[in-house]
Amino acid sequence: MSLIDADKCRPDPDEIAPRSPQTGARPSLPPHNRRQRLSVVILCIAPIAAVALYLGGLRSVDLDDHLMLEYQPEVDLRTGRILGLEALVRWNHPVLGQLQPLEFIEVAESTNLAGELGAWVLDTACTQLGQWKRDFRELDLVMSVNVSPVQLVSLDFDVYVKQVLEQYGLLGSELCLEITENVVVGDLQRTRSTLAKLERLGVRIAIDDFGTGYSSLGHLKSLPVDTLKIDKVFVQNLDRSEGDRVIIDSIVGLAASFGLDVVAEGVESVGAVSYLLDVGCVRAQGFLMSKPKGSEEIERLLEVGALALPWNVDSNDARRTFPGDVAR
Ligand code: C2E
Ligand code: MG
Ligand code: MG
Repeated sequence: MSLIDADKCRPDPDEIAPRSPQTGARPSLPPHNRRQRLSVVILCIAPIAAVALYLGGLRSVDLDDHLMLEYQPEVDLRTGRILGLEALVRWNHPVLGQLQPLEFIEVAESTNLAGELGAWVLDTACTQLGQWKRDFRELDLVMSVNVSPVQLVSLDFDVYVKQVLEQYGLLGSELCLEITENVVVGDLQRTRSTLAKLERLGVRIAIDDFGTGYSSLGHLKSLPVDTLKIDKVFVQNLDRSEGDRVIIDSIVGLAASFGLDVVAEGVESVGAVSYLLDVGCVRAQGFLMSKPKGSEEIERLLEVGALALPWNVDSNDARRTFPGDVAR
């Protein structure tokens, strides 16, 4: 992934210095146009350089001062009950403002900071879950944490996970590590061995963004995976895309055949909810139910234990009513 769309950054040369209609040649740039080109280049490079430089700076400072986690609830679409939370990292940059993970995770990986960043995320998410377990004893929450490829293939990753679980009094089954399909195809031997050790700890494993990567069914079968998380690109337009409905059907069917749980990401419309319930996918995350939120806001939701849903489901799930629902 690149931080910036290079095509958008590249100035149109004809806009800066139009060709002569007679000769077709482009005149040398007048000084003010050279300045214009330079500022476009600087504008494009500055954020990348700033991120890279600042990440370098992160090595020497306390990550607590710069990083924060937001949490997005995973809910049961039939009841609104909060089943778990996904920890999503944000970086409060003093100059660039709050950066989203896709703007810095890749740079972190290329500067070997992914290990430290990943350890901070795991530690912070597990501390938080330990706290919420004490505060909301009646809830049965699972914390999902995204794991980078670098972490997964690092030696002793399972030892670190075990230590964190023990430190915060968590059961392995209360932690779900999310890996992407492409990790699975990267170093299959090492991945299989690490996942097997995590499985012995009782930790759950989910394949994130399922449907967009390259893992083969053979790999899937050979790995101790518990859950498929359907990528949001297939869910966001479910109410109007026949193609996406076919893909959802296939993934839900695949999950059922392998005995895996399935979670839909990116639920943004009641039409999508309606279709997911029809095919038996009851677990989901999405802006329709809740965007990722900071700890304090999440606590207010945990006090209730369920989200107020913008649709009604009766007890036997036979008569769902969706305000403004599209025809199913
Ligand atoms: P992901 O793990 O698939 O997380 C879901 C992303 O989808 C989040 O974006 C979330 O805000 C967004 N999302 C959730 N529901 C909806 C929806 O209804 N509509 C739309 N349009 N988006 C929705 P976010 O927080 O920007 O994270 C992006 C990705 O960055 C994550 O995708 C994950 O791959 C990565 N990431 C986030 N936190 C971490 C981390 O701590 N470690 C690592 N290695 N990667 C992380
Ligand atoms: Mg995820
Ligand atoms: Mg995802």
